[in-house]
Amino acid sequence: MRDLLMIPGPVEFEPEVLQALGAPTLGHTDPAFIAVFGRALKRLREVCLAPSAQPFVVSGSGTLAMELAVANLVEPGDAALVVNTGYFSDRMAKILERHGARVTHVRAPPGDVPSLDEVETHLSKGGFKVLSVTHVDTSTGVLAPAEALVRAARKHGVLSVVDGVCATAAETFRQDAWEADVYLTASQKAVGVPPGLALLTVGPRAMEAWRKRKTPVASVYADFAEWLPIMEAYEAGKPAYFATPPVNLVAALDVSLGQILAEGMDARFARHQRMARAFRAAWKAMGLRLLPTSDAVAANALSAVYYPDGVDAALVGGVKGQGVVVAGGLHPDLKTRYFRVGHMNRVGPADVLATVGALERALIAAGHRSEPGAAVAAAQASLIVG
Ligand SMILES: *Cc1c(COP(=O)(O)O)cnc(C)c1O
Repeated sequence: MRDLLMIPGPVEFEPEVLQALGAPTLGHTDPAFIAVFGRALKRLREVCLAPSAQPFVVSGSGTLAMELAVANLVEPGDAALVVNTGYFSDRMAKILERHGARVTHVRAPPGDVPSLDEVETHLSKGGFKVLSVTHVDTSTGVLAPAEALVRAARKHGVLSVVDGVCATAAETFRQDAWEADVYLTASQKAVGVPPGLALLTVGPRAMEAWRKRKTPVASVYADFAEWLPIMEAYEAGKPAYFATPPVNLVAALDVSLGQILAEGMDARFARHQRMARAFRAAWKAMGLRLLPTSDAVAANALSAVYYPDGVDAALVGGVKGQGVVVAGGLHPDLKTRYFRVGHMNRVGPADVLATVGALERALIAAGHRSEPGAAVAAAQASLIVG
């Protein structure tokens, strides 16, 4: 029996996307593949609502996308401000430091976001080159106020880098309208393609900052100088070679981005909000507490939920026994105390009800007191209201 995969990436993928992965592999200079790659690049720009940005599609995971952004923007000695909401913000800081940046953290306790005032206070001291934001921190289920943060960076002449690995194509993000400089993501979360692609849309100010570097990018594989001619060539309908592109993954990306755009970005953001609301109604009906400190900072892409008293991480195995795969905790301070449910990409009402039902059965089996069906009813009521 196949389980329903409800973790914060990889997620359930559409059959048409998986078919593209299983199709015969074209040569990377085949005209048919050139057309596919060129279209995928254009579609990535549309999904990120970033008409002025340069898209990059590179073989690797989301962490490589983070490293590409940093390696190309940061030179040794540059100052970076990290809006720190958890595990993946710490990872961004580690990458920044490895590339020679002097990092200042603005931290909030796990489950919360730092105040905009505190971020502005740091920015107004001046001297920062880059501000990084984790749009959704997958370790806490916290949604950062990306628009306000990138606008604050822009006001102070600081480049904004937004880690959208657990957010792109799920959480509202309008790169050009908000004047965000770099949006980075990966294939396997809300973008809807199996793991293996690092994706970035790099705005004109960030490209300019890269062009004006005084020092060479420290890694050949990460250097925009190698990748830019490739992306430009494929988009112009011509082949070019630096490193072999992952042909089938790019074809799958093209299919998924086409599906995302067919749904429409606003409709897709709204669907993720509706599904997240239904999940939150279910958690509350079961008497469970979210790790995010309020609904205003709770992500729409996933839920991070504390185990109730008397229940521990064995719950994750119990839920799998009920046919649904959820994830344990990730934040180092709390990881034995909560579980995570991804609700991204193709997630719909059927997935919500199946997941809530499985959790309800597993929780009751683990000794949690909750009226059978109460959580399913709460999710259902939320879905009916819409
Ligand atoms: C998953 C994730 C990453 C890392 O992506 P990998 O593909 O695992 O390297 C980075 N940032 C965020 C916010 C994530 O959710």
